[in-house]
Amino acid sequence: MSTCTTCPYCGVGCGVIAEPDGQGGVTIAGDPAHPANFGRLCSKGAALGETLDLEGRLLTPEVDGRRAGWDEATALIADRFSAAIAEHGPDSVAFYVSGQLLTEDYYVANKLMKGYIGSANIDTNSRLCMASSVAGHKRAFGTDMVPGTYEDLEQADLVVLVGSNLAWCHPVLYQRLAAAKSARPGMRVVCIDPRRTATAALADQVLPLSPGSDVALFNGLLTRIEAAGAVNTRYVAEHVSGLPAAMLAARSSTLAAVAVETGLAETELARFYNDWISTERVVTVYSQGVNQSTSGTDKVGAILNCHLATGRIGRAGMGPFSVTGQPNAMGGREVGGLATMLAAHMDLDNPEHRSAVRGFWQSPKIADRPGLKAVDLFRAAADGRVQALWIMSTNPAVSMPEADAVAAAIRACPFVVVSDILQDTYTARLADVLLPAAAWGEKSGTVTNSERRISRQRPFLPAPGEARPDWKALADVGAAMGWPEAFSWDSPAAVFREHAALSRLGGQLGCDFDISGMAAIPDVEYDRLAPVQWPVNETRSGGRFYADGAFHTGDGKARMQVLRSRLPAEAVSPAWPLRLNTGRVRDQWHTMTRTAKAPRLASHIAEPYAEIHPADAVRAGIGAASLVQIESPHGTAVVRALVTDRTPEGSIFAPMHWTAATASAGRIDALVSAHVDPISGQPELKAQPVRVTPYKAAWHGFAVSLGRLDLATDYWARARIRGGWRAELAGLTTPACWSTLAHQLFGLDAESAVTLDDPLLGIARLAITGRRGSAVLYVGRGPVEVARSHIVAAMEAGEPPATLLAGRPSSESRDPGAIVCGCYGVGINAILAAAAEGATSVEDLGVALNAGTGCGSCKPELAALLADALPRVAAE
Ligand code: SF4
Repeated sequence: MSTCTTCPYCGVGCGVIAEPDGQGGVTIAGDPAHPANFGRLCSKGAALGETLDLEGRLLTPEVDGRRAGWDEATALIADRFSAAIAEHGPDSVAFYVSGQLLTEDYYVANKLMKGYIGSANIDTNSRLCMASSVAGHKRAFGTDMVPGTYEDLEQADLVVLVGSNLAWCHPVLYQRLAAAKSARPGMRVVCIDPRRTATAALADQVLPLSPGSDVALFNGLLTRIEAAGAVNTRYVAEHVSGLPAAMLAARSSTLAAVAVETGLAETELARFYNDWISTERVVTVYSQGVNQSTSGTDKVGAILNCHLATGRIGRAGMGPFSVTGQPNAMGGREVGGLATMLAAHMDLDNPEHRSAVRGFWQSPKIADRPGLKAVDLFRAAADGRVQALWIMSTNPAVSMPEADAVAAAIRACPFVVVSDILQDTYTARLADVLLPAAAWGEKSGTVTNSERRISRQRPFLPAPGEARPDWKALADVGAAMGWPEAFSWDSPAAVFREHAALSRLGGQLGCDFDISGMAAIPDVEYDRLAPVQWPVNETRSGGRFYADGAFHTGDGKARMQVLRSRLPAEAVSPAWPLRLNTGRVRDQWHTMTRTAKAPRLASHIAEPYAEIHPADAVRAGIGAASLVQIESPHGTAVVRALVTDRTPEGSIFAPMHWTAATASAGRIDALVSAHVDPISGQPELKAQPVRVTPYKAAWHGFAVSLGRLDLATDYWARARIRGGWRAELAGLTTPACWSTLAHQLFGLDAESAVTLDDPLLGIARLAITGRRGSAVLYVGRGPVEVARSHIVAAMEAGEPPATLLAGRPSSESRDPGAIVCGCYGVGINAILAAAAEGATSVEDLGVALNAGTGCGSCKPELAALLADALPRVAAE
């Protein structure tokens, strides 16, 4: 039987149809009826079925490393939290939660902390993702409102993407935009990003601005709007305050000054400004490149200023549009899951709101001031202000800036609870109590996507072992702490009804978030709930906001802001000459605890890497595909160098996904300083000064194992293949014997082993077959040049390892090269060969190779490869 549910990864919130096959597998398809994706899925969503096995799952509660029952663990948590509160006050305890939680989980966590414990010390990893958008929206609109819908991106004549690699981070929204542009070629796309990302393939104009110069860019636009007479004077007069002061501050951003600050040519700036001003239907999309900055709130404000001055907001095809990283960042915001919010978009600092929420909850107390935001929360754990900490569904010892200091803080905290689906995350290793959480496919509740659309996540698998939904674990602790009636729900539907009923109060007090139309939803309708955009009340359902003004400020007017450009918190210097920009890759999610299970996702990028500009690489003595050491004052990472001019000179880019489980030294966020935006508290994750030097390996290796793979070499990075592992290896000293190394790696009692060893050249190749698996190992003094995709595919297909020692395919077959299309295993060599044989479009590649005809996530890379290759083909 099939189940309609929602993808657990990004904020696009795609509908998924899951159908267990009865043999342990699950077939996954996009839901054609879901209005976020209309049947599309990206590579991550399409591979969900490969991530559902129970390997590594935490199946029972554990206390101090031993198995325990839920009753014991619940009583212990309640006792330790109560004792800390009794001795040190309510602010001595904290929750650190996650945009992965469902709204029902979030609601219970927030009620327990703010309403019953009486502290606002609940913050979330969404703080790292979009807190600056929240703060920017609240400052300008009076509330955390995303005014538009996904349709606006399709209906716009100009879509401006700022700090958003939509092609990789929100792929289905990118596909919707690409389809709209293809159907309406007059539509233009501008891509504003220091890097030339995969998204640039869709852009009519690419503006690689200097890091941190977004406020200058949009202040420059604001002055040009005024100079061009494009201010919507009627809209501003009726619905906006603060325009004169905002304009005055922006006037120093002359074209020449903006050109200097952004590093962009005046002609390019003028082209962008003229296009923006002359196009009524313009949507400006922003994401982590804007948010993850010490001036993130101001960057958001600078974008909002331009839309408010022109009145281009809330009508079809126009408006500012924040896209969230996580599947339920929006749901967390709606229940008040940030330390700075109350519940149902009500305000902590508003006595009327506090009184209304406390009365509704009938709670003994209510938090009356903001709690600790993420960075401060872990600092408080380090210095003893937080005595008991509950971390849910996130891995802060990897993902927080200064991650090593965060790990030390967790270790220092007297009592730490971690709820997770996995037993062995880096954070879980630091816990006193581990609670097994139900995973995607096992739990029931709702999530809200970036366009305010609430969708159901429905279970289609039984929860294994003693795993429970997080709302239930929280409710039981709330009851055990002495409030059984307030935490007595018997289902997520009951939690949802209470959440919806509370939002009625918010609506009556003038708040935007009001889903009171669902406050009495019966269980059966909750089960059947179709995706619905909020608000949902007696007077309206969904739609856009602010075409008619009616902002959620005291006077109903939006507030334009006086903004001045600020540089990133730390300057580069001779000691730290490059800026580290962190981000994501197409086929992995967060710290890879789920996506790393899927071989087809690993086939895209199987090793941590850093993009470095050729000029910087030459200066640092870094060769193509060599290993490099990235250092900051906080830590060191070792990754593969990708020398490319996609990243500007003076910057490097490295993804944040790799952990100690997947690489020896790939935890990039450990290098980043915990500087935060003064308003939003969001850390600056894209401008860390670092230095990059060659990693002086004495030897390099590449291994494939169908069986065990025990990695203890100085450098390693591993990734799943079907039935085994692949790994990149390196060492600082050359082993005395390669066979001994192979035995350590694979643990195989060889039934047959073939070794080619050339000590003079420093090359060795080993093929081993044993009773418990088979393996190949290639080593050399420099980066190993073998046809990796060919070797992996051959091993997966069961070819004898001894036939693979050449490291290349035979003359009859081709090496596919690095995999670009994971759905059909199409590699770069096959794509370039097709281009040489006449393919000139992505559609041609689809016909020739099937490339891009599965989930379509690779289409931007296919387009970029063709754009590079076709001029060469034409010249030959
Ligand atoms: Fe999931 Fe991909 Fe859709 Fe995001 S775009 S919700 S990751 S399928």
